[in-house]
Amino acid sequence: MSAGLSALAAREIRALEPYRPGLAEADRTGGSRPAIRLASNENPLGCGPAARHALARAGEPWRYPDGNGTALKAALAERLDVAPEQLTLGAGSNEVLLLIAQALVRPGLEVVYSRYAFIVYHSIACITGGTPVEAPARGRAHDPAALRAAVTPRTRLLYIANPNNPTGTWMQAAALRELLASLPAHVVSVIDEAYCEYLQGTQGYPDCVSWLADFPRLVVTRTFSKIHGLAGLRIGYAVSHPELAELMNRVRQPFNVNCVALSAACAALRDDAHLARSLELNRRGTAQWRAALDRLGVAAVCGGGNFIFLELGRPARPVYESMREAGVLVRPLEEYGLPAALRVTVGRAAENARCLEALEQALSRRPAGTG
Ligand SMILES: *Cc1c(COP(=O)(O)O)cnc(C)c1O
Repeated sequence: MSAGLSALAAREIRALEPYRPGLAEADRTGGSRPAIRLASNENPLGCGPAARHALARAGEPWRYPDGNGTALKAALAERLDVAPEQLTLGAGSNEVLLLIAQALVRPGLEVVYSRYAFIVYHSIACITGGTPVEAPARGRAHDPAALRAAVTPRTRLLYIANPNNPTGTWMQAAALRELLASLPAHVVSVIDEAYCEYLQGTQGYPDCVSWLADFPRLVVTRTFSKIHGLAGLRIGYAVSHPELAELMNRVRQPFNVNCVALSAACAALRDDAHLARSLELNRRGTAQWRAALDRLGVAAVCGGGNFIFLELGRPARPVYESMREAGVLVRPLEEYGLPAALRVTVGRAAENARCLEALEQALSRRPAGTG
């Protein structure tokens, strides 16, 4: 029963669709959780032993956490070869992505991102009262020329996910650098590197943190949710010019990152063995997927992150439903305007095999309305 409260919300909030997490639909099936969950790009190994150990010992939860995240910032600064003053911590990198906009965007200012870009950028633009501006894509990939052309005197923020979720595409170092160098002084660029650990060392993949000295209006965001396996704890960070970090610190809530997350993240950061194991599992899993998709004749982007973007060439919803009935949960992408695509997390070998089996079976059913 409506109490008319929606009418009280700002127009841009009324127009927003709430984010649909990959798990929500499973939870609504009445408790029978699918056995295989490859919908949210989590690390199939979970977090490593160091983080687990830290979790078991995580301090005094009745005390407020260190609101500055001093220990984690020191560890990150050393790893990344930056100053602690360049770091901003958030409850997931999603919060950091929002903090940047809260500091910089006001009604009348524009937020640019590409078609098929991570959907959070759109909602952040709306929440902060800015005008979302979607640049056309080239195929499924970001188009640097189109992004540049979308920049106007009112543009304040540009978001680029590298690689992009859900499409798996990424921008080469040269093209990205050229784009950043071409931007006017009133535009801050955010490079969202949620999956960078999986691609580091790949020919042409940029490490944008090393560019910060050249580009003062660049912000790089990263997360502990993906390769570090701490998605449930909600912790991520931004690396930027200290002046920008200081602005973000003004809009940040005092204790936005909890003490358990801080302590587990510190431990995860040092656990190189777990990172190596996770990388290796992902490399093998991606090869497994690639070979099977070739055999099935399914077009896909295996972009090097821990997920695969499938282009089915037919409505994906029935395929998704059929896979879910088989106990395998993947991610449909209608809200991205991609009704014929699915996103699948690369899991352990047995999970991939079951997922592929469910996919093959679903694809063997004729799409409704044909024949
Ligand atoms: C998963 C993901 C994030 C990270 O979200 P958290 O809030 O850190 O869990 C950010 N950007 C992209 C593109 C992602 O896929």
